[in-house]
Amino acid sequence: MLVDLPQIVKDFDLKKCMQCGKCTASCPAGLESNLRTRMIIYLAKSGMDVLDMKELWGCTTCYTCQERCPKGVKVTDAIILLRNLAVRRGNFPRIHKTAINAIRETSNGFPLTPEVSKIRSLLGLPIEPRDVAHIKEELEAFTRLIESLELLRSIKEAEK
Ligand code: SF4
Ligand code: SF4
Repeated sequence: MLVDLPQIVKDFDLKKCMQCGKCTASCPAGLESNLRTRMIIYLAKSGMDVLDMKELWGCTTCYTCQERCPKGVKVTDAIILLRNLAVRRGNFPRIHKTAINAIRETSNGFPLTPEVSKIRSLLGLPIEPRDVAHIKEELEAFTRLIESLELLRSIKEAEK
């Protein structure tokens, strides 16, 4: 089901936010980044377009803010949906696109590097592990599945 910003504000109780700041104060990602959860909630509930905010992608979805919010605002759920909207706009970090392309092509967001292969060899492990990435038929089936996702269209649109 497609959602929009007003729907997110409604479904996740953003209007209940009283700007106490507990979410920002307890956000571990905010310690290491510019993520200010309270600000995102404020802007979103005010009807501002937050989909271009890079900070959205700093959230680790740990759910600390949502568990601690005294007003029951579904903060993390809202951030996840806001990201979904941002992706539909083709707006998400390049590193995510790289990982998604790697998953599509190898079924692995972190494909084996020559260094890892070398360590595997030193440890006596098979160079090619028995996983989806290394079984041709499985990888083809996996690729078909990924290709069917709307997400890839967003990536291609964003790369035009
Ligand atoms: S903890 Fe809840 S009420 Fe407080 S600022 Fe964050 S979202 Fe708003
Ligand atoms: S879910 Fe995201 S915004 Fe909330 S505390 Fe965790 S990292 Fe911060």
